[in-house]
Amino acid sequence: MATNTRILFFLMVLTGPVSLIAQQVPDTILLNGKIVTVDDLFSIQEAVAIGGERIVAVGTDAEIRALAGSGTTVVDLDGRTVIPGLIDNHNHIIRATEYWPNEARLDGVTNRLEALARLEAKADSLPAGEWLMSLGGWTEAQFIGNRADFTLEELDEISPGRPAFIQSTYDHAFANTPWFDAMDIPVVATRAQRDAVTGLAAHVVRDEAGRATGRLDGGMAMIRLAIDGFPEVTADKQAEAIREALTYLNGIGLTSIYDPGGVGIQGESYARLRGMADTEGLTVRMFHTLAGGAPNTQEAAAQVVAEIEASRPFQGDHVMDLLAVGEIYYAPFHWDSLFEPRRPVAQDLDAGKRILTAAAEGGWSVQTHASQPETIDLLLDVMEEINAEYPLRQLRWSITHADLVGREQIERMRHLGMNLQMRSISVTAQPRRYRLLEEMGDAGLDVPPLRMIEASGIPWGLGTDGTKAAQINPFITLWWAVTGRALNGDQVLRQTLTREEALIAHTRSNAYLMFQESNLGAIEPGLLADMLVLDGDYLTVPVEEIKDILPVATIVGGRVVSGSL
Ligand SMILES: [Zn+2]
Repeated sequence: MATNTRILFFLMVLTGPVSLIAQQVPDTILLNGKIVTVDDLFSIQEAVAIGGERIVAVGTDAEIRALAGSGTTVVDLDGRTVIPGLIDNHNHIIRATEYWPNEARLDGVTNRLEALARLEAKADSLPAGEWLMSLGGWTEAQFIGNRADFTLEELDEISPGRPAFIQSTYDHAFANTPWFDAMDIPVVATRAQRDAVTGLAAHVVRDEAGRATGRLDGGMAMIRLAIDGFPEVTADKQAEAIREALTYLNGIGLTSIYDPGGVGIQGESYARLRGMADTEGLTVRMFHTLAGGAPNTQEAAAQVVAEIEASRPFQGDHVMDLLAVGEIYYAPFHWDSLFEPRRPVAQDLDAGKRILTAAAEGGWSVQTHASQPETIDLLLDVMEEINAEYPLRQLRWSITHADLVGREQIERMRHLGMNLQMRSISVTAQPRRYRLLEEMGDAGLDVPPLRMIEASGIPWGLGTDGTKAAQINPFITLWWAVTGRALNGDQVLRQTLTREEALIAHTRSNAYLMFQESNLGAIEPGLLADMLVLDGDYLTVPVEEIKDILPVATIVGGRVVSGSL
């Protein structure tokens, strides 16, 4: 190497070359920032240039300033930190948009009085006749100090004359007098009425005198009955509700979501969203699965096979696309947590195998709901059989929220080219609900085994499993992964990550899991300009403050969709 070349090479290594994809005059340049690119080297830069919906260049202030033309908007970041837009790889958001305008979210609230205050503020903001709701994503266990039930009287006071239904994950709920009236269930029941009740009324918790406390028990069964009584949502209202939900997500730093369908989700929900994507655009990119409810009969399994054969993935674009089959394509095959824990019998395994074979034949990715080791082993047995005939490697099959995945299972998955989607569900302290975790004692702190997964090198990413089972704020997920703490301060996880590892898992890794690595996940030339300008430096704020970070501006496809620059 000649001396001059060697010096040039040295300088390039030292400063990093300005990365450019085209001789394009940028529309916007952001200068004087701390650009956490989350590129392969996790490099930090000063400035970024945006042209159209993509990133044109990343480099030093001087390098980026030199690209500006007369029409370029120049923004001084004033030293603020910028990270790639955050991607939730498991969030049932489409289902949640239905009643979004009625809902008070309690994500991250650690104080009972503050929770009541949020509910009251929401009730005050709603037009007459609209219900007050909070549909999961929180549990009293996340509160510090007082964790008492919300009472009928309290909910009457904060939501007078307005039905209130406040749901704590999928476990129980609280309601007020107007809700009892709307459901035609007496607040004070006579002995005869109490003995006779069936349906939703049977889940009402009453005191000795037969008076409702406001609490309803009964888990999923109760919640299903309650949903039957919810007011209808018109198509007009639905579009507005979707816009409102996506704006909320932008406000907490989300720019892309992988939605795994779920019970109650229909094809028309996605069709409506696709229509909006085409006519007005979406402020959160929506990737989703081919999912309808949770089929649990042989006929329904045959229907799923027919649907897989009749549809094709990857026909959308980088605003919205159908990516995979999942997360529950045949309920008895995923027996571990959602339904009656009966082991799958031979015909259930056959049905699961038929569905997975159809997916492999059709070139589909598959996302499979499973959390417990026995379930994961059983799934892998079937998948390995299929792989012998249809190599799965290119299809990036995944196991989602594999909370109890083991080392050997990861090795089996690696051979199949699979990946893992992990969730921060324990941040609300609810893992104690799981019998298995209670039995595990200290070993429960290894659930999920994030450090082991990270060290294994298997592709994996972070998500939530919101909106009902879990909270949805990505900065709370990052904080949980770094500190191992639940919102109430308890340690729930001892296999923690570094801040850098956690951020990669919530951005670039999720982009790979969603086949979007050439579009999303980092601040690099050529990728879509999805990024967050933060109110604190994620890499250096005191660790306790990570969960409180908020974007001052959320940029999607080069456009500020929330906050301002
Ligand atoms: Zn699931």
